[in-house]
Amino acid sequence: MTRLVMKFGGTSVADLDRIRNVARHVKREVDLDNEVAVVVSAMAGKTNELVGWCKEASPLHDAREYDAVVSSGEQVTSGLLAIVLQSMGVNARSWQGWQIPLKTNEAHGAARIADIDGSLLIERISGGQVAVIAGFQGVAPDNRIATLGRGGSDTSAVAIASAINADRCDIYTDVDGVYTTDPRIVPMARRLDRVSFEEMLEMASLGAKVLQVRSVELAMVHNVRTFVRSSFSDPEDSQLDEYGNPPGTLICDEDEIVEKQVVTGIAYSKDEAELSLRNVADKPGIAAAVFAPLSDANINVDMIVQNISEDGSKADISFTVPTSDYERARDVIESSRSEIEFDALQGSTDVVKVSVIGIGMRSHAGVASQCFQALAEKGINIRAITTSEIKISVLIDSAYTELAVRTLHSIYGLDQAA
Ligand code: ADP
Ligand code: ASP
Ligand code: MG
Repeated sequence: MTRLVMKFGGTSVADLDRIRNVARHVKREVDLDNEVAVVVSAMAGKTNELVGWCKEASPLHDAREYDAVVSSGEQVTSGLLAIVLQSMGVNARSWQGWQIPLKTNEAHGAARIADIDGSLLIERISGGQVAVIAGFQGVAPDNRIATLGRGGSDTSAVAIASAINADRCDIYTDVDGVYTTDPRIVPMARRLDRVSFEEMLEMASLGAKVLQVRSVELAMVHNVRTFVRSSFSDPEDSQLDEYGNPPGTLICDEDEIVEKQVVTGIAYSKDEAELSLRNVADKPGIAAAVFAPLSDANINVDMIVQNISEDGSKADISFTVPTSDYERARDVIESSRSEIEFDALQGSTDVVKVSVIGIGMRSHAGVASQCFQALAEKGINIRAITTSEIKISVLIDSAYTELAVRTLHSIYGLDQAA
């Protein structure tokens, strides 16, 4: 007997036919006498619609009421899946976050999980009932529903797997695993059998939305055996391998990976906007004058570039912020104009950050220069660069996104054999 968490994302529960298909995957595991907790997302597009309604109702809406609205999508799918499972003769019951309870902190809209009491869930699933849990939601200290940030059902699933000591957490989605890059923009992308926690963390935080970043952090910290696999495969066909692993990609420790590549994947993020201050006086304290007010306004700055003029008296400072903070960041800088003293403030949201990720970079030189060379040969201008031990990110014009991702994917030998 295996204790499992099975998580199904938005496209996997997009309509009743898909929900029936999901129910067949669940029934397969129940028929094998496994203990099953299921975590579901809202139907594809539903959360976007709900978020849109909140914005339309009032651009400056209360985060508690936003949570009351946007959490409803998952409530619907958990109930529907329970109904379908029951109609197939499977003993199933839906659960909302507060019923578990899954407790969060007070950060409505982007709450973090504080604690999950798994005892009631364990009691029910070990008694043979399938728990169908609404992902993305919990209950905050003010006793109100809180949501976990976009893509948060992945985090619900891994956290619940840890709380109930599950043997495995299977994240079912619309692709059959984690690929070397988004298979929707690079058809030559290859599926990875295994990917290390660290690389997956980078890929997720640099734009590969296949897993929410926090779900990877939790899987790493709590050592949850997490697989990414397809909900579109034949539900009758589970194909566990000789070690009991399902098909798909295992997120695991680095030392479980036998074939190590220098570069494992390419990610891109359009959630990036650039601001440039021209002709800032180059004197001590100027960077603090620019970035302190942004930090006071809770705006996260990502990439930073400073160019000094030939005579050393002036500098251009460029930096990036999340697209959603672009207008606010402009306002903050404009209102600090007298302290910073600059000639012009320019900006663009037509930029994209493309990143090359691989733990092999720690021990291999030349990865960055290969990237810069390849982009130059395609005539792609690099506006900013950041690096860490296992990644290089470049900021480019968004018109070149696909060309850059495909070019880098190919030069690092990631394309699948034709
Ligand atoms: P779900 O609704 O199941 O949570 P998401 O849309 O959040 O699914 O995530 C799956 C999507 O992630 C895929 O359809 C794919 O386009 C995208 N994706 C981006 N990068 C990758 C990658 N490296 N490997 C696999 N999928 C990726
Ligand atoms: N439905 C939520 C969202 O779209 C949570 C999730 O899908 O993981 O962000
Ligand atoms: Mg998702």
